Amino acid sequence: MTTVAFIGLGNMGSGMADNLVKNNFNVVAFDLSDAALLKAKEAGCNIADTTEQAVSDADIVVTMLPAGKHVMDIYTSQILDNVRENTLLIDCSTIDVETANKVSELAASKGLKMLDAPVSGGIAAAAGGTLTFMVGGDAEAFDQAQGVLGAMGKKIVHAGGNGAGQAAKICNNMLLGATMIATCESLQLAQKLGLDPQVFFDIASNASGQTWSLTSYCPVKGVGPQSPADNDFAGGFASALMLKDLGLAMQGAKSVDAQVPMGELAAKWFDAHCAEGNAGIDFSSIINRLA
Ligand code: NAD
Repeated sequence: MTTVAFIGLGNMGSGMADNLVKNNFNVVAFDLSDAALLKAKEAGCNIADTTEQAVSDADIVVTMLPAGKHVMDIYTSQILDNVRENTLLIDCSTIDVETANKVSELAASKGLKMLDAPVSGGIAAAAGGTLTFMVGGDAEAFDQAQGVLGAMGKKIVHAGGNGAGQAAKICNNMLLGATMIATCESLQLAQKLGLDPQVFFDIASNASGQTWSLTSYCPVKGVGPQSPADNDFAGGFASALMLKDLGLAMQGAKSVDAQVPMGELAAKWFDAHCAEGNAGIDFSSIINRLA
């Protein structure tokens, strides 16, 4: 039986660890939160007292942590010096490309293989085992990770070398942030010009303005398939997480001197939207700033 050390059992990690247990992995879990540990225990995980203890006998380590600083801290102070020599390291957190590269270089300097494998799909996909993984790292490590990632997701894409998974994630989410705002403003303008939003939806969904933000996640209540707009923007993908990912995209763009004018504007809009008290609700609620 393959032993997986799972560190970070929050909104996403708890569902992911559950799916590993359901797929017959021996999961040794650790989190700083007692409530998270209790939930993991009930799901069938073995609970460790520390990260060092969790990883010491693991074939694979999976981390699902809030941000780059947590990832850097935990790998440098608790993981890299306490794993067996053939342990595969997989960080599924969404973090900046620079930190992902640094941590994988530190792992390599100790002879360890590491993948950055951020996910697309929210809490429901984590619980349902239907996440998409965007993976950066070498081909051998990618092949080795198929079983564990396949137990937690439905699509696993090899994006390239170390850092490429994080690059893919932040570029995708920058595109999503900008297209969501463009979708919202088009819908609002259409209505102010006298169009029924359902009629505009039917036209634009089949015309050159077609975009996922419109056809799969329409921000207007009662138009298109079921989306957070139908539920007062509860659930879905929190504006705070969109702002976080846009911040990572801006950091990445600065590091390589890339021009991202639409991404920059989207970051400003989501920053203001979160500051106005909307951090916890779905990001498509940005339509309310245009009302
Ligand atoms: P979360 O805050 O719910 O969970 C993070 C967990 O990590 C917490 O339980 C926390 O106690 C634990 N933790 C923090 N520091 C630790 C340490 N040193 N040792 C052990 N445990 C520690 O966050 P989340 O929503 O599960 O998101 C995790 C990652 O996934 C983030 O990087 C986020 O950007 C990304 N993500 C989230 C979503 C989403 O919809 N929530 C979607 C895609 C990607």
